[in-house]
Amino acid sequence: MKPPIVEKVEITEFTHELKDIGSEGTISIPIYEPGSTLTSSKFAIRIFSDVGITGEYIGGSKTEYSAIPMFIRAVIGRSALAREAIYNDAKQALRQHARMGMSQVDMALWDLAGKLFDMPVYQLLGEYRTKLPAYASTYVGDNQKNGGLSSPEAYADFAEQCFGMGYKAFKIHPWQDAPLDKQIALVEAVGKRMSGKMDLMLDPFCAYKTFGDAIKVGRACDDWGYYWYEDPFKDGGVSAFAHRKLREIIKTPLLQLEHQRGLEQHVDFIVADGTDFVRIDQDYDGGVTGTMKIAHAAEGFGLDVEPHGPGAVRRQCMAATRNSNYYELGLVHPSCENFVHGPYFLDGYSDDLDAIDADGCVSVSDKPGIGVEIDWDYIDKHQVDRVVYD
Ligand SMILES: [Mg+2]
Repeated sequence: MKPPIVEKVEITEFTHELKDIGSEGTISIPIYEPGSTLTSSKFAIRIFSDVGITGEYIGGSKTEYSAIPMFIRAVIGRSALAREAIYNDAKQALRQHARMGMSQVDMALWDLAGKLFDMPVYQLLGEYRTKLPAYASTYVGDNQKNGGLSSPEAYADFAEQCFGMGYKAFKIHPWQDAPLDKQIALVEAVGKRMSGKMDLMLDPFCAYKTFGDAIKVGRACDDWGYYWYEDPFKDGGVSAFAHRKLREIIKTPLLQLEHQRGLEQHVDFIVADGTDFVRIDQDYDGGVTGTMKIAHAAEGFGLDVEPHGPGAVRRQCMAATRNSNYYELGLVHPSCENFVHGPYFLDGYSDDLDAIDADGCVSVSDKPGIGVEIDWDYIDKHQVDRVVYD
């Protein structure tokens, strides 16, 4: 067929206000803070074609979009279906720029293709399932005594609440700065209450100061049979050598690779024995094209890929992947809404705590493309900046 040609790419920055959320600490992590309002910066990309079909995606950070001018000439005037060629050209053009921005372009192109063929992305890729088991992925711990995640018992209460709602798995993002004995008490309290009922995961988001601290907490995970232990310490989650050593010392499976971008980096880390589960992220790893390459590479090693963060495009990819266990529904908290997604979808798309069904699953949209209807009136009203490339 004669393919649609990309005529214009538009990037819009807009804001979304989040109630009862502040940001804490030296690394500005969103955190439950009653009475505070956090103004969150969001980005939407639109790719316009000569046949009137537009690919759309919301996601990615300012840093990602800052690299778009480095490769946008590989996109404008080209076939909107040439995703594989654009992926490869962008990878080369961005080799000195951490391959930023190519993911968001790729996802908008997949959305465009889905709309062109009137089919959701997961059917274009090849359907494997339509129900996706989800885990409740908590906010980082706070210090709010009422309704917060301020103590090991508060986390255990919340895990029990999630189990009651139907969740089969629960992931702790612990405190950024709590002493190590409190971090271990947290693993124990949730383990003691919920181990054997739900799969439990721990993601310290690289907060523990040393390899030794990672071992001490990892041994507590071993005691309670945690399902995975993710990015434990301040190497930043990138040392294959350190994580191979950690795997020799503790029993709990590790989940790494959120912080290594791209197919080759993932495969190198797997070959170096640095992880058990393989993290993928559509915003970091080259969009649908890049993450599906990693999913299939991992499949060849007999390993599972686990998508990072929520979102409609993650659901589309997971619905076309056998070797994946859980959708990350988060961040969730007993007292505030998810900061990852806001009110800019017209069809009620949500990744809030109650987005699961009675079996603890979320579903994949059957609508064409990524399958969400974006509220452009909301975005226009909250616009901060708009850049057009044509
Ligand atoms: Mg993580």
